[in-house]
Amino acid sequence: MEFDLSWLLLGVPIVFALGWLASRFDLRQLRIENRQAPKAYFKGLNYLLNEQQDQAIDAFIEAVQRDPDTTELHFALGNLFRRRGEYERAVRVHEHLLSRADLPLSDRERAQHALALDFLKAGLLDRAEEALRKLDGTRYQDQAWLTLLSLYERGRDWPQATAVAQRLAQRQQGDFAHRLAHYLCEQAATAQAKHKDFQRAQQLLRDAIAQAPDAARPRIQLAGSMAAQGDSATAFAHLLELEDHAPQALPLVASELVRIGNELGELERARSVLRRRYAVDPSVDIADALVQADVASGVSLKQAREGYVRHMVQEPSLIAAARWLSQESFAHDGAHEAVQRSVEDAARPLARYRCAACGFEAQGYFWQCPGCQAWDSFPPRRIEEL
Ligand SMILES: [Zn+2]
Repeated sequence: MEFDLSWLLLGVPIVFALGWLASRFDLRQLRIENRQAPKAYFKGLNYLLNEQQDQAIDAFIEAVQRDPDTTELHFALGNLFRRRGEYERAVRVHEHLLSRADLPLSDRERAQHALALDFLKAGLLDRAEEALRKLDGTRYQDQAWLTLLSLYERGRDWPQATAVAQRLAQRQQGDFAHRLAHYLCEQAATAQAKHKDFQRAQQLLRDAIAQAPDAARPRIQLAGSMAAQGDSATAFAHLLELEDHAPQALPLVASELVRIGNELGELERARSVLRRRYAVDPSVDIADALVQADVASGVSLKQAREGYVRHMVQEPSLIAAARWLSQESFAHDGAHEAVQRSVEDAARPLARYRCAACGFEAQGYFWQCPGCQAWDSFPPRRIEEL
C-alpha cells in the first residue's frame, strides 16, 4: 500500500492552524473574563472603601458569578453579609463553599469556621454549637473551644463548660482553675437555692476550694451556706481563712465577719483580722465594720463613729462622711436632714462596684459581670476607692 503523502502535507498545517485558532480564541475569552472579573472586584473594593456596602455587595456578586471558583471573593462576600447582619446570605455563601468538592482542606476548615460564626451571630446557638464541634482537629480548634466555652457559660450549662475548660487547660490555653471553681460555685448555688440540697452544695464548694485554693468565692459561699444552716462556727472559720488565701476579698465580708464574730463571742478575732487588713489596704468597708465592732463591744455610736474620721484622714471619702454625718448634731438642727440627704445622694453612686473590663456598674458585687460576662472582673472595692 502506498501512502498519499500529499494529504499528510496538507493536513498537518490545517490541524495546526485550527489548534492555533482555538487556543487564540480561548486566550481571548480568558483575557476578557479575567479583565472583567478584577474590574468588578476592584469596583467592589472601591465601594467598600467608600463605605457603600450595598453597591460593594452587588459588584462582588457580579464578580463571583463571572468566576464561581474564586474562593477569596466568596469569603469576603460572606464576611460582608455577616457584618451587615444578613446571616442567611452569609450562611448560603459559606455552605456553597463547603459543598465544593475541589475546595482545599485549609479553605474547607476556614469556611466551616466562618459558618459557625454566622450561626453564632444569628443567635442560632444549636447550629453554632454543631458547627464549632466540627472544627475539632483543625487549626481553629482552640478558638472554637473558647467560643463553645462562652456558649455553654451563656446557657449556664456548667457540666459542658467544665469539660471544655478542662480540655483547654490541657492544651495550655490559659489558667482555667478559677473559672472551674466558679462553675462549681454556680452549681452549688443552684443545689442550695432550687433543691435545698445543702449537703451537695457544700460538697461542691469544698471541691471548688480544692480546685482554686486562692479563690475568694468558694470560701465566702461555703461560709454563707454554713451560716444559713445555723453552723456559725464553721462559717466564721471559713471567713477567717480568707486572710491567708484571698485577703483582697475581706472588704466584701467585713461586716459579716463582725456579725458572726459577735454572735460567737469571737469579736476580738474578727477585729484583729480586719485591723491587719486595714493596715495594708485601708478600705471604707473595713473601716465601717470596725465601727460596727466597736458598737457591738459596747462603745457608744457617737464615740465609735470617730473611726470614720480616722478613715477620712487617711482616705478622703464621701461614703464615710455620710455615715459620720448621720450621728452629728447640727447647730442649725433644721438643716440636718437636707444636708444629710444631699451627702448621701452624692455618695450613693460612689458606693457601687464597677467591672474593670467593661465599666458595668452595680449596687451589689458580682463574680461574673452581667455586662461583659467576664469572671472576677469586679474589684472588691467601691468605685470611690478605685
Ligand atoms: Zn464587664
